[in-house]
Amino acid sequence: MKEDKKLTAAELPAGGMLEGGTAEEFKTGPWRSQRPVWNKDKCIHCLTCWIYCPDASIKIAPDDKKTTVVTGIDYDHCKGCGICARECPVKIQAITMEEEKK
Ligand code: SF4
Ligand code: SF4
Repeated sequence: MKEDKKLTAAELPAGGMLEGGTAEEFKTGPWRSQRPVWNKDKCIHCLTCWIYCPDASIKIAPDDKKTTVVTGIDYDHCKGCGICARECPVKIQAITMEEEKK
């Protein structure tokens, strides 16, 4: 019987594909060359960044009034694409992109 072994991202053959819905199992943060930095004092919690993030890396939670607010960024999975900073309302810039320091 064939062993059902899960491969890590590093063990994948070039061009290999995995079953769908498994992205959360892999920490893709080390791929980043740019890091989104969230400024909570400027954020108006419009959630635009959360809607646009392709990696579900904008963290949200209900506040004490049961309103959904941004609470931070999941750097384990954020790939640093910059879409959140691009889509954040232009004059607010509650997310800025900075060079990732390894
Ligand atoms: S940089 Fe890209 S992956 Fe990271 S939080 Fe922003 S939209 Fe998501
Ligand atoms: S898009 Fe900008 S202002 Fe809106 S929730 Fe995200 S960081 Fe805050």
